[in-house]
Amino acid sequence: MEPARDCTAAAIWDERYLDYDFGDHPMNPIRLDLTVRLARELGVLERVRVEASVPADDDQLRSIHSADYLDAVRAASTDPSFTGFGLGTTDDPVFPGMYDVSALIAGGSARAAQRLWSGEVEHAVNIAGGLHHAMRGYASGFCVFNDVVLAIRTLLDAGAAKVAYVDVDVHHGDGVQAAFYDDPRVLTVSLHQDPRTLFPGTGMPSELGEGDAEGTSVNVALPPGTTDAGWLRAFRAVVPGVVRAFRPDVLVTQCGCDTHHDDPLANLELTVDGQRQAIHELHGLAHEVAAGRWLAFGGGGYGVLRCVPRTWTNLLAEASGLALPPDTAVPRGWTDYLRGRGVTAELPTSMGERPLPEVVPWAPGGEGWLDGAIAATRRAVFPLHGLDPLDPRD
Ligand SMILES: [Zn+2]
Ligand SMILES: [Zn+2]
Repeated sequence: MEPARDCTAAAIWDERYLDYDFGDHPMNPIRLDLTVRLARELGVLERVRVEASVPADDDQLRSIHSADYLDAVRAASTDPSFTGFGLGTTDDPVFPGMYDVSALIAGGSARAAQRLWSGEVEHAVNIAGGLHHAMRGYASGFCVFNDVVLAIRTLLDAGAAKVAYVDVDVHHGDGVQAAFYDDPRVLTVSLHQDPRTLFPGTGMPSELGEGDAEGTSVNVALPPGTTDAGWLRAFRAVVPGVVRAFRPDVLVTQCGCDTHHDDPLANLELTVDGQRQAIHELHGLAHEVAAGRWLAFGGGGYGVLRCVPRTWTNLLAEASGLALPPDTAVPRGWTDYLRGRGVTAELPTSMGERPLPEVVPWAPGGEGWLDGAIAATRRAVFPLHGLDPLDPRD
């Protein structure tokens, strides 16, 4: 375990986030509640500046969504029979108060961006954010307002010249990519399960951005079944190289943890240890390339007992400069809370699952789906950044 860094971090947390509740649905707000309880029990919340959210206002929301879509979300918030604009669907059912809580989450991500850019803290986290599928004119994939797009716009408006966004959710970060597809100031990098096998069906290496922004959309399409070692191999072969070459002022990360082997909605096979390592490496990258400016969001993650609370507690700890050792015991108070709610399922006893395997670095000429996927991304995008797709040092 590396020594702790001396980092300052803010966490935007608001109990009202728990009202983002689609009812009988995989995106259960208990995942946020259990994360915050675990982080509190482990003393992690004491290490970060916890601040409440403020809802995004009309001007902010109009900068990222169309007026007719905002009207639709408003209407859907009081009309349970509303359909249209992606709302009233299985993925995005309507519920009372949908507009207000979605604006609160988006406002939390904007506030995190403000705290970071002002220099008050080096890192800022909104675990309720990361709603990366929402599009300008419609809801998609459990996401109503795209808080990530709002946060990046907030940074650009405040004076950031270039923002790099890395999305490690199992699904393609399509809404964020679409918002900045022709904007050369924003690099979007998404690692995800191959879209031929998973929602939303986009995110192939051939999606590169357009016009001046060609090369600023980077997609790594991973085979189903990818484990910690394969995932980290792909990450290291693509992400540090393009992010360094882009020279961003800020690193923004979507830390969805639906890559976990227990996740009910997707087919990657990472452990919480692989996810923690990815977050650790993103943190280090922010210090290396962006003067430490690191803005981190949650995202997907539907293993609500065994994955999300541990991985996002590890995220909060990491942002505070402390990596929790994997053998850290899960506190009794957390387990008791769940038993008190009548949960009988097996619960984790420590913050890790198993030691990380050795990660063999990528090299050209490798065979198989994974190495082919890595090579395809490097071939498509590396030359546009002055990097050599065949040189493993790039
Ligand atoms: Zn740091
Ligand atoms: Zn996802």
